[in-house]
Amino acid sequence: MNNLLSSTGTTVFTVMSALAVQHGAINLGQGFPDYEGPQDVIRAAADALMDTRNQYPPLAGVPELRQAVADANRRFYGLEIDPAAEVIVTSGATEALIASLMAVVNPGDEVVVFEPFYDTYLPMVRLLGAVPKLVRLTPPKWELPRAELAAAFSDRTKAVLLNSPMNPAGKVFTSAELAYIAELVQRHDAYAICDEVYEHLTFDGWKHIPLMTLPGMRERCMRIGSAGKTFSLTGWKVGYITADRSLTPNIAKAHQNLTFTTAPNLQRAVALGLGKDDAYFAGLSAELQAKRDRLAKGLAELGFGVLPTQGSYFITTDFSPLGFHGDDVAFCRHLTETAKVTAIPVSAFYDGTDAPKHYARFAFCKNDAVLDEALARLTAWK
Ligand code: PMP
Ligand code: GLN
Repeated sequence: MNNLLSSTGTTVFTVMSALAVQHGAINLGQGFPDYEGPQDVIRAAADALMDTRNQYPPLAGVPELRQAVADANRRFYGLEIDPAAEVIVTSGATEALIASLMAVVNPGDEVVVFEPFYDTYLPMVRLLGAVPKLVRLTPPKWELPRAELAAAFSDRTKAVLLNSPMNPAGKVFTSAELAYIAELVQRHDAYAICDEVYEHLTFDGWKHIPLMTLPGMRERCMRIGSAGKTFSLTGWKVGYITADRSLTPNIAKAHQNLTFTTAPNLQRAVALGLGKDDAYFAGLSAELQAKRDRLAKGLAELGFGVLPTQGSYFITTDFSPLGFHGDDVAFCRHLTETAKVTAIPVSAFYDGTDAPKHYARFAFCKNDAVLDEALARLTAWK
């Protein structure tokens, strides 16, 4: 059997998590917390299961959640959103990404994607028959190469896929960078699919700015959030798209033909979660910042080059100072098998063979005791 999927590999997260299990390794690869999300949100989901509203919810999402998403847009970013016409709930940000692409992209269109990218982006773009135009950010600060970005846009550009805060790079795009991107999007009459799943996970005073809040971008952006990240409940797979009413009919048709609806009890619980007080959101980022610092300090003491992380769950490290002979895939396998700690080779977030091969990504969304044990294992291994 040979079709468009035949050349798509198994995701690195599945490969590395299986390897971690096989070797009894601490999994700092796949980005999922090893602690539970807020108890009131979980309780709300359990209660909602028992309230006998377990049949198909409305296609666009339950009204409570659409309202909560609109309210959160106003509260955090000053965006005025009509909950009935400008919010679509999806089964995770993953579905939101493909639904947003389907809503605007035709076969042959070009989509600008930043490297390193979240691993589903390229397969998604290609499955739709569209053509990714890659723009590589420059490590270690992941700077935006402006001239290259401008050159990547053409009259065939339909969309740019922007992830901020960024996985795996931990970069938060600045307002100046966003303004540059916004100008290109408008000049080329394109759209922006904004993967903002880590919107509430920023550190050191960095603030996430949705591209949608920039002048002229309200009608051009599909802004994607995920309850998985905002409530540390990655298995729930509840995502939400905020988009102008001119775009939501197409997004809804994509959603209709992908999953149609999303579990109603989870939607109601997420609605409650989005209304939590400021202390919850401040606490979430403060806790993760402390975990980032804990892991970053330990890895630096071990001799890793630690790249800056302004947001997300991830630290990118340069392992070349350790003197390992081999590429990042070999390093992450070796680390799993011998140190019993798993990381993700960053070349998995690049296309082609000329990716940097000396970076490994570690997830810090883990209990402190687990991070300490991982560091202890690495110390003993070294
Ligand atoms: N986008 C990014 C950048 C991610 O890291 C992830 C994975 N956690 C997703 C999208 C997918 O989110 P979800 O689990 O809600 O589908
Ligand atoms: N987003 C998570 C990560 O980057 C993984 C999600 C998945 O396994 N698909 O590690």
